[in-house]
Amino acid sequence: MAREQHVVETIICDICGKTAEEATTVVIGWGKEQWEIDLCQVDNAKVSRTFDGWIAGGRKVRATRGSTKSAKGAKGASRGNGSDWDYLESLGFARHRGRKTAAEQEALASREA
Ligand SMILES: [Zn+2]
Repeated sequence: MAREQHVVETIICDICGKTAEEATTVVIGWGKEQWEIDLCQVDNAKVSRTFDGWIAGGRKVRATRGSTKSAKGAKGASRGNGSDWDYLESLGFARHRGRKTAAEQEALASREA
């Protein structure tokens, strides 16, 4: 009898601690430090809403050209739509899995305009 090994990747939401079926990994930054957190859909929506409130009156930070720092985050580089994220990262957005936030979609829309 053949043996089958199933590898199931389980992602635990870092906010509520529950298993997240469709987790979104987001990178949040404060000053020069960055953290990667996994969020379930519920907490992703909550965090996203809170974040929108914080950045509503803020200014986007544009990454300075010629910075060598961007090579560091190559881990998730092969996932998703590369060129969108290359552009967003150049604006200071952090690459993440899952649906793009309103702010990210807005940034992409203004590029195409
Ligand atoms: Zn959660």
